[in-house]
Amino acid sequence: MTTVFKNPLSIPVLGFCAYSGTGKTTLLKQLIPALNQRGLRLAVIKHAHHNFDVDIPGKDSYEMRKAGAKQMLVASHVRWALMTEDALDSDPSLPHLLQQIEADKVDIVLVEGFKKLALPKIELHRASHGKPFIHTHDDNIVAIACCDDTQTPNELTRLDLNNVDQIADFVIAYQQNWQAPRVALPIDVAAASLADDGAQGLSVSQGIKHILNQVTPICATETLTLDELDNRVLASDCISPVNVPQQTNSAMDGYGFAYTSLSANQPLKVVAEVLAGHGYQQTVQAGEAVSIMTGAPIPQGVDTVQPRELCTPLDSQVTIQQTDKVQQGQHVRLAGEDIALNQVALEAGTRLGAAQLGLLASLGFAKLDAIKSPVVAVFSTGDEVSQPGEALKQNCIYDSNRYTIKAMARKLGCKVIDLGIIEDNEQALTQALLAASEEADIVISSGGVSVGNADYIKTVLAKIGQINFWRINMRPGRPLAAGKINDCLFFGLPGNPVAVMVSFLQFVQPAIRKLAGESQWQPRYIPAIADEFLRSKVGRTEFLRGCYSIGTNGQIHVSSTGAQGSGMLSSMVTGNCLIVIDEASDHIAQGGKVFIQPFADLL
Ligand code: AMP
Ligand code: MG
Repeated sequence: MTTVFKNPLSIPVLGFCAYSGTGKTTLLKQLIPALNQRGLRLAVIKHAHHNFDVDIPGKDSYEMRKAGAKQMLVASHVRWALMTEDALDSDPSLPHLLQQIEADKVDIVLVEGFKKLALPKIELHRASHGKPFIHTHDDNIVAIACCDDTQTPNELTRLDLNNVDQIADFVIAYQQNWQAPRVALPIDVAAASLADDGAQGLSVSQGIKHILNQVTPICATETLTLDELDNRVLASDCISPVNVPQQTNSAMDGYGFAYTSLSANQPLKVVAEVLAGHGYQQTVQAGEAVSIMTGAPIPQGVDTVQPRELCTPLDSQVTIQQTDKVQQGQHVRLAGEDIALNQVALEAGTRLGAAQLGLLASLGFAKLDAIKSPVVAVFSTGDEVSQPGEALKQNCIYDSNRYTIKAMARKLGCKVIDLGIIEDNEQALTQALLAASEEADIVISSGGVSVGNADYIKTVLAKIGQINFWRINMRPGRPLAAGKINDCLFFGLPGNPVAVMVSFLQFVQPAIRKLAGESQWQPRYIPAIADEFLRSKVGRTEFLRGCYSIGTNGQIHVSSTGAQGSGMLSSMVTGNCLIVIDEASDHIAQGGKVFIQPFADLL
């Protein structure tokens, strides 16, 4: 039986395991020079007996450590060594030890010992020792090195224990073929399987995948002016009708000349001054220069510009200083170097913001085709839900969900229809939903989808649409209804205000973006360090509200906003991100890594 092992480095780790006396160290002593000869840079980790020491009594470093330094680092210009007093009850942690290795200085870590860990290993075996095999009960053996007529299974690479070169070739190939595992994101829609019937509830990834499968992007387009195109999605590829910049021009105020006519201390004859928006129609000859301004077109014969500060003009001549440092072509912006004529400047499906609008303007576009904005109809349900502005009756709450949903939909470029609070009765709901589905591309409700509700939503939707009522393995936001009323998408979000926002961000946002024709969007995950212990539960994805900031070490740190009740909207106001803890984790330790989704751009 082996114990789980996760390589924390971006280089491979390969173990050598054997019963004692097989000759591990003897082999490694020969293998290391053989690998060095092949150009492989090595780190080696060895598990030693419990009270080994590397220092020598009487040496300063030894005495200072014995005097009580928990860590002692001794260094010269040739080598350095860090000794750490770390009395543990159990084996040292290999991942922790690996983190001490400077992975940019070596190509592979060879490990001697740590036989019980599930790390890839070469087994060394000598039949004459009469010891059992290791590979029969350890799936992590990648090759077996033996030296006699030992029988080895076909699927294992067999190496000759006495042939160091052959073993070295194997290690080289292993290092070259090794691929660092991709960092697993807490939500991976592409990898989600829909085969599962969801009896245990759906994962967040499965929920998103089911929903996206139901969404057909809008095809209708409209022609809009640049100002109207803000936050809209481009309907077709935008082909540049011009070169940007239009002409090769100067990036500096200075003097332009042919690089080949430069020679130290030889002044150039200034034949013209070229201003932005103007030009010099003649060819600049060898030995000549033009005074040129930023943005002014480079005349024929000129290929290099020296900034004005590094030039000494005198009468009608200029001396170029530091000629040895001048590089041919410097401070010259080539025509089309930003965007070339006929190049795709922006692809269809691009959401247009400040940078994209500026770029379209720079190409001279005044109008372009955008995909029509999705129309989103929003309503709330629940007898206790009241309209803000009216007096709050006993046992009632104000409707906040409609306002969070409308605001998020608008930020995503949708047109919003507000259907208000719909009375909890079948007839009113049926009428409202059918009418909304005629006008809108998406209808979103909140409340009334959890178990134990007066089930009007469920009854009505079962009659007029195809709707799934899911239990999503997440918190907050477990109940979710999603489906269609005719061609209109329907989302029944939970009632609790934070659950509404979290489910909107996770499920409705991707649907709206796909519907709107946005092609490249992916949720953003940023790795951060947890500044506190964060509780979760295996089997569900946790979305905590967090505050992230740059720590004194320059890394992103995050802590929760405190109490995480799914009705506490103040946590969304205080927070600036969701902390996303994947289904496999039951907690994140203080100082541990976690992914966050900043929400500032959408809320
Ligand atoms: P439900 O899923 O209908 O049982 O609602 C769960 C919780 O969310 C209850 O405490 C409701 O009062 C609350 N809730 C439902 N709709 C809204 C709304 N539109 N605005 C604020 N809170 C709501
Ligand atoms: Mg309700």
